[in-house]
Amino acid sequence: MYKSIILGTGPAGLTAAVYLARANMEPLVIEGPEPGGQLTLTTDVENFPGFPEGILGPDLMDNMKKQAERFGATFKRGWVTDVNVDDRPFQVSVDGLGELEAETLIISTGASAKMLDIPGEKENLGKGVSTCATCDGFFFRGKKVVIVGGGDSAMEEANFLTKFASEVQIVHRRHELRASKIMQDRAKNNEKITWALNKTPVEMVSDGMKITGLKVKDNDSSEEELIETDGIFVAIGHNPNTEFLKGKIDMDDKGYILVEPGTTNTNIEGVFACGDVQDQKYRQAITAAGTGCMSAMDSERFLEGEAAVDWSQNLSE
Ligand code: NAP
Repeated sequence: MYKSIILGTGPAGLTAAVYLARANMEPLVIEGPEPGGQLTLTTDVENFPGFPEGILGPDLMDNMKKQAERFGATFKRGWVTDVNVDDRPFQVSVDGLGELEAETLIISTGASAKMLDIPGEKENLGKGVSTCATCDGFFFRGKKVVIVGGGDSAMEEANFLTKFASEVQIVHRRHELRASKIMQDRAKNNEKITWALNKTPVEMVSDGMKITGLKVKDNDSSEEELIETDGIFVAIGHNPNTEFLKGKIDMDDKGYILVEPGTTNTNIEGVFACGDVQDQKYRQAITAAGTGCMSAMDSERFLEGEAAVDWSQNLSE
């Protein structure tokens, strides 16, 4: 029986692990299929405070893990197949590890950026292909970039990218944009933004070292053309990793876990959520780490509160 089990090892889960371990709660951290989370898919991280020269995403996550281990967090690898949050202790079934029990649970399973799933995409992630303009836009100063998507994220990121890039071209698969009118107008009024509408991306092209172009197909004529570019930002949405919790914890219609504002409390007492699994607005490593810290403190105080209740009950017995 663990005092706390943390599901997920992105910046949220690892920060929760550091805090809980330092509070002598000896947390168990379950590493899923993508240990370290989305930051392991990026290269340099220049906006995480404390690293004036920047740090590689995988190194940052590795450091956080070592920091948590140093204070007594245990890490086990496995695929969480089921969670029972009806009664405490909570039960977590993990492939290869069996059924584990914990007094509190911290859900930090993150979100995964939706990908186009076309040739050249996966192998060039971090080499000119990115899913986060806030993280990687800075590397494209004076360069030409393409952003794929027609929603608010694509518009917002396109505007953001014009601070660095010489030209930002938005590639969208329809003539109509999904984004809200205000976000569309902002992008349309930005002189650095050009448009390639009604085009479906079919291949990301590289010279072996870095991205050189995006091949797209016109949806009316079926003609293909190569858009020359130094970078491709994919902004077609995210999926929170909450499939295994469906029907067990309150979520919004997109599957993001609902938390009580200003806390990491879910609707189940003793279950806390932090990081991108409960945040579709900020989605930054530093905000994830911040909510990870909050969830550890919420979890610790929850158990302390219970201990205090038990203690007073003992006194009256
Ligand atoms: P979204 O609204 O789901 O838009 C995704 C876009 O990507 C759509 O235009 C979609 O095309 C396109 N797309 C999806 N799959 C594709 C594929 N396989 N190939 C090519 N294109 C594809 O996602 P989002 O823009 O990330 O926004 C998510 C939520 O966050 C929304 O509720 C949004 O309002 C909110 N948000 C708000 C702000 C803000 O207010 N500042 C900023 C960002 C996000 P179709 O249109 O053809 O389906």
